[in-house]
Amino acid sequence: MFPKPGTLLVDWPIGVYDVYAADRAGDAARMPLRRRRKDMKVKLASSRGFCFGVEDAIELAEVAVQEHGPGRVVALGPVIHNQQVVKKLERAGLDQSGDLETIDPSQTVLIRSHGASPETFEKVKRLGLRVVDATCVLVQRAQKVVKQLHEDGYHVVMIGDRNHPEVKGVIGYAPNVTVIDQGTDLESALPYKERLGIVAQTTHSPEHVADMVAQILKRPFQEVKIVNTLCLEVTRRQEAAVELSSEVDVMFVLGGLHSANTRELARLCSEKGCATHHIETWAQFKPEMVEGKRFAGVTAGASTPKDVIEEFAQNLESL
Ligand code: SF4
Repeated sequence: MFPKPGTLLVDWPIGVYDVYAADRAGDAARMPLRRRRKDMKVKLASSRGFCFGVEDAIELAEVAVQEHGPGRVVALGPVIHNQQVVKKLERAGLDQSGDLETIDPSQTVLIRSHGASPETFEKVKRLGLRVVDATCVLVQRAQKVVKQLHEDGYHVVMIGDRNHPEVKGVIGYAPNVTVIDQGTDLESALPYKERLGIVAQTTHSPEHVADMVAQILKRPFQEVKIVNTLCLEVTRRQEAAVELSSEVDVMFVLGGLHSANTRELARLCSEKGCATHHIETWAQFKPEMVEGKRFAGVTAGASTPKDVIEEFAQNLESL
């Protein structure tokens, strides 16, 4: 039964159009006269935000600056892919210029959670610099796996973004590692070797890696060894985001626009057909993002702080 024209529909389940009228006398078709949005319902993904690797890296950076003083510690690039955290560390006195060529020998070098290549560690040693190593244990594991695969006679293939600092560091642990990221790379980049050893960038999704491996297996390699180097923290966030995206009208993925794991979260939600917005903070929110939406999901990449997520959810809920 449709309500009478002009009736205020306080509990109308759709909850977006509150006042309706028939467009012609006796016509059952409804037409919104006035749009009045009820409170947004906001649900947070069960797994979201900072991972232990990022938390450790930030803590090590803060402690190093406290110990050695402002301007005395140099990180080899931004500690994490999050502008708010990077600026906060900068204000605390951490130099994130990342230039080994201009570093003063009395300064201390901070290796980020992404890790670094053996050449970088050797250079730091040659320059006589002190090192604080914040490489995440899971990235360290990937580095060891690559080294071991090479020593065992495998040609190492890494599924990952060749421009990502983690990949740049990990492939330094074996000579001639082949990096592939898309199916098209298989034709152009993958050499024929009898024994392949495959690893993946920690932040990739299992689906993407499985797809790439399936394509490799269609080729005539005699032996293919796959070592799972994916990060479970990232996988959990991906699963939670996909699950939530099927329950809501719109998803907000919070985190650095250059953060690989945040971009992957946004890609997965969008791929599931949910309207998805990847933004860094509430400052980038626009009301039209929730136009006609009532249920919003919020998740965040592994480098997004808790306060950014909380502020966003609270503001969204109060619309
Ligand atoms: S995302 Fe995973 S691999 Fe990367 S720093 Fe966090 S825990 Fe480590």
